[in-house]
Amino acid sequence: MGAATGGLAEIAPEIFLFRQPVLDVNAVVVVGAEVAAVIDTLSTDAQAAELLDAIRAVTKLPLVLINTHHHFDHCFGNGVLAAASPGCAIWGHEAAAAELRDHGARWQREWYEAWLSTEPELAQALAEVEIRPPDRTVHSESTMDIGGRVLELHHFGRGHTEGDIVVWVPDVQVLVAGDLVEQSGPPDFEDSYPIEWPETLAGLLQRLPPARCVVPGHGTTVDTEFVRGQHGELTELAWLIREGHADGADPDTVAAKAPFPVEVSKTAVRRGYAELAGLI
Ligand SMILES: [Zn+2]
Repeated sequence: MGAATGGLAEIAPEIFLFRQPVLDVNAVVVVGAEVAAVIDTLSTDAQAAELLDAIRAVTKLPLVLINTHHHFDHCFGNGVLAAASPGCAIWGHEAAAAELRDHGARWQREWYEAWLSTEPELAQALAEVEIRPPDRTVHSESTMDIGGRVLELHHFGRGHTEGDIVVWVPDVQVLVAGDLVEQSGPPDFEDSYPIEWPETLAGLLQRLPPARCVVPGHGTTVDTEFVRGQHGELTELAWLIREGHADGADPDTVAAKAPFPVEVSKTAVRRGYAELAGLI
């Protein structure tokens, strides 16, 4: 895992992982010769400030930000981090940028309400964030030169959300997968497309070389074999949803057969049925 450096662990040469214990979410810093890219910016101003301190312990370079998707735990630190580096660009998928730009206030209210009873401090801090959407967007892919090092930003289709991107660092074969891959818990289906998610992961596995290290959205780093395993489970789920939908089966009955915890699977089946009905 590499030595811990002021809150950052070096997982590959000049690539650092910051693990935020609240929600066990990951941020990754890729240091080039001219710019340091920060992939995901955590949930709150305070968390972003802590991440910034850790970054400044390893590099003073200008920053560029990349959001893997629009969920708060991956982008609500944008404002604090961008303010620390004049002219800082924020990259994200066009759908993620649109969600934050057009519906950010509604999301913020929903997330505040969702976390108020279990994580009141987090909920309060979420409500105080000034949302800063990505100002540079990716459609299907984009490359970024950070000085002696190129990053590839890929969108392989809908999955965990409509606008997931992954970041591939070819010189060290590191993949930052966002919530398309989850280690510390089951995948989250709240805003997902469970019928398309397996195809999206299949595209990722086919089009990128095998990774030496995969950083999931939450939890410890994994390998390509883990991603294949999660792809298998998501494929099984998608077929159960297809069968259930074709048979007119009750969603809860379908969820009980899924390879994930039943409450999580109920959300997946509800979203999958909506997908198959052309509603989302
Ligand atoms: Zn997410």
